[in-house]
Amino acid sequence: MENTVSAINVAKFGGTSVANFEAMSRCANIIENNPSTKLVVISACSGVTNILVELANGVKDKAGREQLLQELVDLHFAIIGCLQSPDEIIPNINEILAKVSQCAEQASQQSSTQLTDQLVACGELMSTHILSQIIRERGHQVTRFDIRSVMKTTSNFGNAEPLLDDIKISAATHLIPLCEENIVITQGFIGSDYNNQTTTLGRGGSDYSAALIAEAVDATGLEIWTDVPGIYTTDPRIAPQAKPIQEISFSEASEMANFGAKILHPSTLLPALRHEIPVFVGSSKEPERGGTWVKQEVESVPLFRAVTLRGNQTLITLKSLSMFHAYGFLAKVFEILARHRVSIDLITTSEISVSLTLDRTHTQGGAPQLPAEALRELEELCSVEIEQNLSLVALIGNNMGQAKGTAKQIFGTLEDHNLRMICYGASSHNLCFLVHESSARHAVQQLHRQLFEG
Ligand code: ADP
Ligand code: ASP
Ligand code: MG
Repeated sequence: MENTVSAINVAKFGGTSVANFEAMSRCANIIENNPSTKLVVISACSGVTNILVELANGVKDKAGREQLLQELVDLHFAIIGCLQSPDEIIPNINEILAKVSQCAEQASQQSSTQLTDQLVACGELMSTHILSQIIRERGHQVTRFDIRSVMKTTSNFGNAEPLLDDIKISAATHLIPLCEENIVITQGFIGSDYNNQTTTLGRGGSDYSAALIAEAVDATGLEIWTDVPGIYTTDPRIAPQAKPIQEISFSEASEMANFGAKILHPSTLLPALRHEIPVFVGSSKEPERGGTWVKQEVESVPLFRAVTLRGNQTLITLKSLSMFHAYGFLAKVFEILARHRVSIDLITTSEISVSLTLDRTHTQGGAPQLPAEALRELEELCSVEIEQNLSLVALIGNNMGQAKGTAKQIFGTLEDHNLRMICYGASSHNLCFLVHESSARHAVQQLHRQLFEG
């Protein structure tokens, strides 16, 4: 079936952008200002997912649960109280809150990843009711759409993988026709598996949802509206002198997201890149300040683009004399890791040792752990040292290995730091190293000052 809707622009608003009535009204202005914005993907109101995660982890005492529930009630009803016709959505919100209460009680007896996803999904389920009503009250035709019928995923609760073919087919059937005459408001972050059980794409996953939806509906553009006017040369909370970047390539921005720039969920740009959808990142508070365009081709290709920081790293160093001039050692190591489904992020090797960091994409926070059985098997092969409390600092840029004097500029700045591991070479876009978490912010500030504030 050919879709008849012309251009669909997908706009995503994060938690702070929908934190209260004023913030949601600013989102409504942005949506109204672009008639192509037919599909809107939003997060839960700021702070809500954290409360739901706390409840999902199991709050044993009833009064504690009730207090958290009351916080959710207060937060949402403060916004609902500003609506012209609050009664239109109050029954829906109450129904979701009743579900939160019931699941929270269940979680206090026994928590599970499946129950956690049912609970945390409630944040986005509520925020979409409220924003839909705000836009409806401005005289627009609005449909609040439950994305779980389109965002089909694996059953890996807490970190589900999208099933692209299913998403594409259901979007064509259910979502695209709706966009013809409606502004469609839907949830980021959540989906459902083949058994129609609620799943989530991992914390911060609404960016990824929006990109997957944009891909599925052949969107002409994807806008990520957040609390900063674009992607900066580093997190402005770490270095206040950080500057917004006007244009950045998909490869550079993907590296930034992968290496910890919280502004984008690490997987966000994959669907946009596959479909060559230009991505805009801007501030819903100050849309007039413009933002960053992420594109295939950009005019400027600077040597240094940005610095990122990612905490909670786990470094594993494996040492064995039998590695010396022998073959097959690494194969055995990786066979063990693969069998235990341990995903590796960075790796460096020397004659008799190999150091690697564990990928934390699939952890719910905290440092990733090596499964006990994998550790036991590795220890049969070699000595194993595990270090934590480390952070990864990455310098993102272009062809950094080819410019003379680069190493001196970078490492000269870092001479006071004890660098635990350095990786460069596999990608010409990044050079990264591990430092103790206590000095990581300082390392980012120093590098930023040296390379970007000149
Ligand atoms: P949202 O709720 O809209 O998804 P997030 O809190 O997930 O927003 O992401 C926005 C935050 O990302 C910013 O407030 C900023 O502190 C942080 N951030 C980290 N790295 C960068 C960067 N390079 N540029 C801009 N913001 C960054
Ligand atoms: N609400 C979810 C979270 O806080 C998803 C998101 O905001 O992107 O992680
Ligand atoms: Mg985010």
